[in-house]
Amino acid sequence: MFQNIKVTIPTENIGSIPRPKELIDNINSFKNGMISKEQMDKAYEESIKDTIEKLKKCGCSVVTDGEQLKPSFLTYPISGSAQCEDNGLEITFSDGHKRSVPILSSLIQPPFKYKTYAKEYIDNARKYTDLPIKQSVISVSAMSLLYPSVSINNYSREQFIKDMLNEVERDIRMCLEAGAQTVTIDCTEARLALKLDPSGDLLKQFIKLNDQVLTRFSPEELKRIGIHSCPGADHDSTHSMEVDYCRILLPSLLQLPVGKFYLEFAAESNKQDIILCISKNIRPEQIIFFGVTNVNDPRIETPEEIRDMLLEIYKYIPIEQFGSCDDCGFSPFFDDLSTSRDIAFAKIDARIKGTKLAEEIINKHLNE
Ligand SMILES: [Zn+2]
Repeated sequence: MFQNIKVTIPTENIGSIPRPKELIDNINSFKNGMISKEQMDKAYEESIKDTIEKLKKCGCSVVTDGEQLKPSFLTYPISGSAQCEDNGLEITFSDGHKRSVPILSSLIQPPFKYKTYAKEYIDNARKYTDLPIKQSVISVSAMSLLYPSVSINNYSREQFIKDMLNEVERDIRMCLEAGAQTVTIDCTEARLALKLDPSGDLLKQFIKLNDQVLTRFSPEELKRIGIHSCPGADHDSTHSMEVDYCRILLPSLLQLPVGKFYLEFAAESNKQDIILCISKNIRPEQIIFFGVTNVNDPRIETPEEIRDMLLEIYKYIPIEQFGSCDDCGFSPFFDDLSTSRDIAFAKIDARIKGTKLAEEIINKHLNE
């Protein structure tokens, strides 16, 4: 019997693309008062435009602004806010370098409010493309780390969490209303939580916080919301690679009621176990985007190896329930120059080509 089945494997990037060196120089000059706001805005606009054009050239059907405007995936809502200060909790990466999470100021005038909402980035990117736009936002669990270990006098932790849940909801909702095709929640601290507390209690608290935000959205909205999990990516090193993906992390994450997951995968050594763990825990309404390019490794994957990774996944996960992505953003922090833009776009190009190759083979197989 003649059949004509045609499936498509969706493929998307996570968010950040390395900023051009000139943009970073301009950001530093602007901080030192050496260039005007107009000059700074122009540099941002050029960089967003170039990023979107290059993503289109690679064949991306959904684009991001490459987070060119974000100081980092974590700090964008509170950058420049008088409610927060630098140097809160320190996160140590595998090469020994550290990044610190901001901390609430003891002089905060409640309630806690975001200074910047991610919707702004969608509006900017929209000037340069008609393609669907994907936007990442920071998770409520990462934001919970802002509250200091010693209570603030006029602002209890409980009240802060209430205010923050509202702000995170608002950030996501505004992106959905601005027409984002997908809003992904960056949840890198999920894996870190298991490193800091192997018992799983901290992760449980993080999952509960995310669940509290997500229950505020309708089933239709949840289809457009995704979660990204990874062991970190900064200066080509990770903060929690040693944590076992399958023991608690994947089963806990997959309980969250979102429609899409963007999971680091290419850098893992026990891929088979991970695929099996996902196939055991996946629910029918979920789509899993597997990372097929390792953002912490300068080697550019070949389309053939990406094809083979996806064909292995196809053996265990229904075709309509998986896609491909990069393991993480290429530069979650604006000043990370460890990966060049050229390497990032070459990896994206390989991902799209490799995904197409897998798709052709699967379509042939389905029509046999
Ligand atoms: Zn990541």
